[in-house]
Amino acid sequence: MASKTCTYAALPDAIDLVSYDAVVVGSGFAGSVLARELAERGELRVAILERRPQIGGNAFDCLDSQGVLIHEFGPHIYHTGSERVHGYLSRFTDWLAYRHEVLAFIDGNYIPVPFNLNSIEQSFATEKADALKAALLAAYPEGSKVTILELREQKNGLLKELADYVYEKVFVYYTMKQWGLSPEEIDPAVTARVPVLVGRDNRYFQDRYQGMPAEGYTALFQRLLDYPGIDIFLNTDAVTDAHLQLSSVGEKGVAGAGPDGGAAGSGTADTADAPFTAITLQGKAYNGLVIYTGALDELAGYRFGQLPYRSLDFVYRRYPQKHVQPCGTVNFTVSEDYTRTTEYTWLTGQDLEVTTVAEEYPRAFLDPQSQIPYYPVFTEANQAAYDSYKALFQRLPDFYLAGRLAEYRYYNIDQIVERALALADGILEA
Ligand code: FAD
Ligand code: UDP
Repeated sequence: MASKTCTYAALPDAIDLVSYDAVVVGSGFAGSVLARELAERGELRVAILERRPQIGGNAFDCLDSQGVLIHEFGPHIYHTGSERVHGYLSRFTDWLAYRHEVLAFIDGNYIPVPFNLNSIEQSFATEKADALKAALLAAYPEGSKVTILELREQKNGLLKELADYVYEKVFVYYTMKQWGLSPEEIDPAVTARVPVLVGRDNRYFQDRYQGMPAEGYTALFQRLLDYPGIDIFLNTDAVTDAHLQLSSVGEKGVAGAGPDGGAAGSGTADTADAPFTAITLQGKAYNGLVIYTGALDELAGYRFGQLPYRSLDFVYRRYPQKHVQPCGTVNFTVSEDYTRTTEYTWLTGQDLEVTTVAEEYPRAFLDPQSQIPYYPVFTEANQAAYDSYKALFQRLPDFYLAGRLAEYRYYNIDQIVERALALADGILEA
């Protein structure tokens, strides 16, 4: 990895982590933006601990065996309405103009998703389509977005018919595959991400800024992290390698999260909910800042049980031709075990005579040793379980939780960057 100022290495024995002003666990967007801000604006010395062999978290990309730029942890399309986020990220990359269009493969036809007026015309005979479009336009202003759960509440016969069709053909099976839950069982915000669109915009996202980093996400991360004072330690797990340990001395007994990943100290049932009050690193007391972007249940030794996540398996198909599918992503909403296929050359604009397609198979997240927790499963009960974990960390003054895992939220890249910048503002002002 080319870098002028950063160290990219496993944690050498001689490195004394407690000498750093800040330790950042994880090098995804949350950790990397915070590391840069603390180093650049705060002039702090920052150590990033990353357990994977590369930077970038789930947005990492790389060339595959046939030279196609793939996203190893799932397809990432950048989009934002935030001036601050776009201005910030544009310091580290140029953008490739890319409009992400998704087609759902329904009963042998490719139909635009989000379902819109074009989708209606492609799914119904002309007379019926005209009636459905008129009913939709009578109920909602042109250009508006209606969630599928909201549309299903409609009493109007035509709207109900449309809602039932879209629910059956677009949402039910896909959602069951993705979450192992029905659209009613998962938080409504999840299906609201893909509303019915009362218009003809076939783009998946309507944000003002959208595109792909011109040289890929990894190159963006390399520039983001290439700053004096940032040292990056890859293949370094914060708990098992750097011995990040939290303890609650003096708080209803002694409980702790130890280097074995399990509860250390006397983490028995009556002390398990004692908040943490002290941090050690490499066996020494640490009084600097800690930014933690990993999973909270893991850090707390799973003392209240495992938080539910969904994992993914990716199966790659490689072809000796330019393109095999009509657009970047095809959603399989009524058939197949995988949810979607992504053909990366559409996303990246690579002009090759070969192509690579990834099939995405959602899985229950059962084994933290062999699986990646990609998505928090956002339900009220799971949020309550997360809150119990979060309460453990509230007493540590300089310990900050940031990111999709640590906050147990379904955030996009831009939301993570926005939150990381705001957190950096708060820390630096303090
Ligand atoms: P992550 O990227 O998960 O980074 C966390 C890092 O912490 C990881 O590198 C991990 O190895 C490291 N870590 C965890 N625990 C430890 C530990 N104990 N020690 C050391 N290191 C540790 N967003 C979009 O805007 N557009 C998209 O198209 C899009 N597509 C997505 C597709 C998929 C399949 C997924 C899963 C997410 C997608 N997202 C998308 C969301 C996007 O990935 C996230 O918003 C963003 O990457 C989250 O960044 P993060 O830093 O919070 O977490
Ligand atoms: N969804 C669906 N059918 C689709 C697209 C989305 O049922 O064709 C639902 C599904 O529950 C999914 C959610 O909407 O998990 C959010 O979709 P999005 O494309 O935003 O998911 P992501 O890209 O984050 O995996």
